[in-house]
Amino acid sequence: MATNETAAGSRERKRFLVECNGCGYERSADGRDEATRIGTDHRRETGHELVAIELPPMTETEHS
Ligand SMILES: [Zn+2]
Repeated sequence: MATNETAAGSRERKRFLVECNGCGYERSADGRDEATRIGTDHRRETGHELVAIELPPMTETEHS
């Protein structure tokens, strides 16, 4: 995975949705570090494989 941190001047935090393939576990994370930590924690506990999906930065208008 390539790091792409030189985009623009703002240090925006990327948001991720961490999903588990082994169960219904699903968690939103603030930044890549958080997503990695969530994934590592869950995998250590359950042995499940997780995927982190990058979310679009702005979701304020979306209200479901
Ligand atoms: Zn799981």
